[in-house]
Amino acid sequence: MTIYFNEIKNSSSFCIAAFTHTNFTIDGKVSPCCLAEPLEKGIEDFENIWTGSSYVELRKKMLEGTRPLECWRCWQIEDKKGYSDRQIHNNTFLKDNNENLDIDVIKGNTTGFPLWLDIRPGRFCNLKCRMCYSGNSSQIKEEIYLQNKADQDIIGDRPEEFDDWIDNPAAFQIMKKLIPNIKTIKIALVWPKADTVANSRSAKAV
Ligand code: SF4
Repeated sequence: MTIYFNEIKNSSSFCIAAFTHTNFTIDGKVSPCCLAEPLEKGIEDFENIWTGSSYVELRKKMLEGTRPLECWRCWQIEDKKGYSDRQIHNNTFLKDNNENLDIDVIKGNTTGFPLWLDIRPGRFCNLKCRMCYSGNSSQIKEEIYLQNKADQDIIGDRPEEFDDWIDNPAAFQIMKKLIPNIKTIKIALVWPKADTVANSRSAKAV
């Protein structure tokens, strides 16, 4: 299905990220972007998730003019007349691809794979930015762990335990399959943790 430039510009529910972009969260969930609520867990099953009912329903809603609930952060920003990530994604994509777009409700686009990857292979970031939380930052997690539960509730951050998915061989097989189609890749790592990842068993296999 070809989407025309003017249709996208005027749509208030369409986001190109749902058709071209994927985010792997630190705990192995798959979402269209880092702002959207995760659709499913299981990077090793990514191909089925990309063409599966959660992604397909999200894409259909966007084309039908319905705002998917998973994207509530963008709707909240737009309702307050802000400039959302949806608008940034659409405008950037249209600027870089000055042509009509072939999208597919099931396969996303004609390649059948995402064109953008935003990867958080575990809790590897060792910065402590003010706007972040324990889900991404190893330093914030350590600090919040020292708080009691009541204080964690006040702060609104209760660190969860999970295994970093970097050493899951099945997840890395998926990465190997996706990378040839990828035009842009973002990986959230901070040195020296990046060294740990680069030297991991699975990374060497890619
Ligand atoms: S609408 Fe917003 S939250 Fe949804 S996929 Fe696009 S950028 Fe992400």
